[in-house]
Amino acid sequence: MTSFLSYKTYIEEGDLVIAYISRENMTPLIMDPKLTYNNKFGTFRHSDMIGKEYGTKMPSHNGRGFMYLLHPTPELWTHVVPHRTQILYIADISFITTYLDLKPGSIILESGTGSGSFSHSLARTIAPNGHLYTFEYHEERAKAAKQDFERHGLSDLITVECRDVYKEGFGITDLVHAVFLDLPAPWDAIASAKAAFKQKRIGKICCFSPCIEQVQRACASLNEHGFVEIKMFECLIRNQEVHTIPVYTVKDAVSKIKVQQDKKRKRNEEEASDSKAAKSPRIKQDPPNLYVSKTPTEAKGHTSYLTFATFLPVLDDEVEIIDKVNELD
Ligand code: SAM
Repeated sequence: MTSFLSYKTYIEEGDLVIAYISRENMTPLIMDPKLTYNNKFGTFRHSDMIGKEYGTKMPSHNGRGFMYLLHPTPELWTHVVPHRTQILYIADISFITTYLDLKPGSIILESGTGSGSFSHSLARTIAPNGHLYTFEYHEERAKAAKQDFERHGLSDLITVECRDVYKEGFGITDLVHAVFLDLPAPWDAIASAKAAFKQKRIGKICCFSPCIEQVQRACASLNEHGFVEIKMFECLIRNQEVHTIPVYTVKDAVSKIKVQQDKKRKRNEEEASDSKAAKSPRIKQDPPNLYVSKTPTEAKGHTSYLTFATFLPVLDDEVEIIDKVNELD
């Protein structure tokens, strides 16, 4: 079995392979010697892929093209996961992971599980001894996510529970370091999320909401429940457009102007008579190029707003408070 937590060298029957054709074109394949995968670059027999090393450039059986056989990672899985819902993409995933201070050993609460795109990255971050409790009220989605986590060697790290967290809450107290809510109405889950935090530690929460009205309601609820440092971010990807511009020396620039002037004179002379034009001086070599980059002013690609807040521990006495402040320093 292929695990998302370690790398193996050779592809075996039953393994997951990410067939990489280009950044925009990848497909997950589970190796079965009876199957053949066809795409516009040809026919690829699974039996030819079994026994190859992950990373191999695989020619098609009928010689029309090739693809790469990649080992799965959470990043690649996010590209190929069957979309049972809207999912989180890498820009948001990496930002949230950093801002929630997640690391090996962290205990996290997530809802809803959706297609499990974020859960895969979370599991890799908290391994080997952390835990993810993820809640999804849609039975089929919860079942499919559980199956994916088992197939991907993550089931020891993830507990999936099928429940409506608005109505039933999370049923967890004094346990988690961080909470992530990708729900239509996160404010209905904040009271229960608050109880799930380790009560004697500082914790972090993030609500992922596409509309600003949802952000406003989430902020109001976080504030009401005593969360502090409430901040909102939006993660947008801006492409850098790279161009080359020629860099002329003064000599070449003068020569270029002369060429242009000569061309103009030649045209004038040709117009006046049919006589031959004088030979123009030429720039002997192309000037060296300088690479410059330009950022388009408008950044597209809104996914959701990320609202972060901090849970403050419940402390009994002044000594404990001073200890916590020292811990922060
Ligand atoms: N973050 C996920 C990912 O990266 O794949 C996608 C989450 S999806 C946008 C939101 C999920 O929340 C849906 O699958 C939905 O069924 C679930 N959901 C909505 N309301 C819920 C509730 N009250 N309790 C539990 N899950 C809920």
